[in-house]
Amino acid sequence: MGVLEDAVIKAKGAADFAGRKTGEFVELSKLRISIAEVDKKIEAEYLELGKMVYKASREHTDCTDYVQEKATAIDLLLKKRRDLEEKVNALRKVKKCPECSHENQFDANYCNKCGAKL
Ligand SMILES: [Zn+2]
Repeated sequence: MGVLEDAVIKAKGAADFAGRKTGEFVELSKLRISIAEVDKKIEAEYLELGKMVYKASREHTDCTDYVQEKATAIDLLLKKRRDLEEKVNALRKVKKCPECSHENQFDANYCNKCGAKL
């Protein structure tokens, strides 16, 4: 194979790699924006829940059903957040330890820091 063809193949490979990296970067940015949006919603739900519990306490009314409803909504948002984080970790090829939050290699079975099963 000639030097020129060799250089063309190498350049194509580098461009493909750079393209893939750019795609991953864009995807990661989108996921991080989504996580920030979910965080805002979670904060808003907590705030509203707190206000309603406070109001019920002042007015001596029962808010048990309301609290259950809000807790379910918050659980859904927390699950959505975990799913988004998992996607981020998969793209970054890391696996977060559920015990100590250490970032391990994606294919690790045990945490490198605390030894917990992943
Ligand atoms: Zn750990």
